Amino acid sequence: AKESGGNVSQFFSADMTERVRSRMTLEAHLREALDDDAFELVYQPYVDAQTGQLVGVEGLLRWHNAELGDVPPGRFIPIAEETRLIIPIGAWVIDRACRQMAQWREDGLGDVQVSINLSAVQLRDSGLVEALRTSIETHRIEPGKLELEITESTLMHSVESYLPKLVAIRALGVKLSIDDFGTGYSSLNYLNRFPIDRLKIDRSFVHDMLDDPTDLAITRAIIGLGHTLGLRVVAEGVETQQEVSILRDAGCDELQGYFFAKPLHAAQLAAWVNAQSLA
Ligand code: C2E
Ligand code: CA
Ligand code: CA
Ligand code: CA
Repeated sequence: AKESGGNVSQFFSADMTERVRSRMTLEAHLREALDDDAFELVYQPYVDAQTGQLVGVEGLLRWHNAELGDVPPGRFIPIAEETRLIIPIGAWVIDRACRQMAQWREDGLGDVQVSINLSAVQLRDSGLVEALRTSIETHRIEPGKLELEITESTLMHSVESYLPKLVAIRALGVKLSIDDFGTGYSSLNYLNRFPIDRLKIDRSFVHDMLDDPTDLAITRAIIGLGHTLGLRVVAEGVETQQEVSILRDAGCDELQGYFFAKPLHAAQLAAWVNAQSLA
């Protein structure tokens, strides 16, 4: 960005100027991050609600920058989306996940199901299906063990235009789930038409359901709705035994949250699985 002499800056408060500057610093570093090998994918297990056994893991992106330290995804993903850097970064995530699936299989863990998050920008990109196909073939993974999480609000924005893309993804054998469900005001009509496998109940409902009868009712309604449509329902952000009991009694299929595990480094998964099966 070019330095504009005195005039422009007077329209910014000092605070705003600082925010613009730190955003530009972040963006500049983000452009280097792929080359610097500064990303890591960590993996949070989700488990069968009845047995507590591993069903799959969600890959979550981490960025460590030498100057900025650990930058949370809530901070850098929006910038990556605005700058379209999310396309190469997202392709890295897809490939990293597939490579890890092959590694776990080699390590004797079997075909671990891995879910990764997909942003709207990636979904609109014409290279997505090819990127998926290439990574699946390169690492020789079982495509049915890879799942893409798309937020409800993304899907709501452009129901019609995404449908062919979703169908093409499904044709590869890859699974789809709707993330942060309950926050996007979906119509039942669109849910019925999308080729999806899972609903993930947004963490905010799980978090509030013990204190707020409305959130408990919504949680139960989402579980019922999902089952009516033949979908698996996952609750996110499960932190306590009490939440586990309520969700289990409500018939929720799968649970994810700190109560079971925080996101793990790839090498920690085997140890977690072993400890879990002894518990
Ligand atoms: P998300 O997809 O809803 O991921 C779940 C977030 O909840 C993760 O935060 C996870 O660490 C956190 N979480 C899991 N269990 C608990 C719990 O019991 N309590 C609480 N309080 N939090 C829990 P994280 O890793 O910071 O990711 C934040 C968001 O960033 C994700 O939300 C997702 O929208 C986005 N994100 C992460 N990785 C990627 C990626 O590779 N690509 C894209 N496009 N977005 C990503
Ligand atoms: Ca997710
Ligand atoms: Ca979520
Ligand atoms: Ca509430």
